[in-house]
Amino acid sequence: SLSLSPTNAISAAPAENSKIAPPIIHLSAVGKRFGANQVLANIDLDIHHSEVVCLIGPSGSGKSTLLRCMAFLEEYDDGEIHIEGRLLGWEIDDRGHRKHAGRNRLNQARRNLGIVFQQFNLWPHMTALGNVTEALVRVRRLKRSEAEKRAMAVLDKVGLAEKAKEYPARLSGGQQQRVAIARALAMEPKIMLFDEPTSALDPELVGEVLAVMKQLAVEGMTMVVVTHEMGFAAQVADSVVFLDQGSIVTRGTPNEVFRDTQHPRLRQFLQNYL
Ligand code: ADP
Ligand code: MG
Repeated sequence: SLSLSPTNAISAAPAENSKIAPPIIHLSAVGKRFGANQVLANIDLDIHHSEVVCLIGPSGSGKSTLLRCMAFLEEYDDGEIHIEGRLLGWEIDDRGHRKHAGRNRLNQARRNLGIVFQQFNLWPHMTALGNVTEALVRVRRLKRSEAEKRAMAVLDKVGLAEKAKEYPARLSGGQQQRVAIARALAMEPKIMLFDEPTSALDPELVGEVLAVMKQLAVEGMTMVVVTHEMGFAAQVADSVVFLDQGSIVTRGTPNEVFRDTQHPRLRQFLQNYL
């Protein structure tokens, strides 16, 4: 019983002045090829602080690639991506040619980003707590006691404080994905990127993960979410971006996009969810 009728977006609405404030993520004319395959073309997209953007579109339309480019897990070929006003991944030399940004600079940019994938990729030999603590100790260089304190706080936030000592194999898929979200949140990102976070889950486990994401949205986290959960997009997104064949076909409020009758490909795509 999926409802596509958008309610008012419940996320912390971007403040009025966010329209004039510089976007936290800015893409202009971004293009990406794999060999001869033009996977993304001419992508323009601004995302503001506290905004929740849902990326929708058919399989193969370039959603994952776009998200991965935003974290420079893929190099983009054309255009520019700016995170908080700084060019991502590339430096421009004296002659105007791009070269790879140094590792330090890239890591600095990535510190702003938390990423959650369809596959949770937890370490099987570590408890939930261990999974969340690991990067805090190894990457952020926190003392273990300090790291565990922070990890417990985020596990509590995703409703898993009691499961801290469990190994992934003893957790449901929904619980594992919440641990993965906690692991990302522990790094205190400014932006969370989600790539189909519920697509690998049994249907009855989807809701608990979406509830955690909804809570994050309410608290004002900036989020980019690739999803097929149209109900979630309708309810939580500030804006919905429809991608098809590597291009943004349309972007608007859930109301605008889900009631759009102008774009045949969008209409056809949404048919699958009614
Ligand atoms: P979506 O997430 O919307 O399903 P993807 O971004 O995964 O789409 O893929 C977009 C296109 O890019 C597809 O044609 C896919 O085959 C291609 N593609 C994705 N990743 C790679 C890769 N690492 N190498 C070559 N082609 C790729
Ligand atoms: Mg994908």
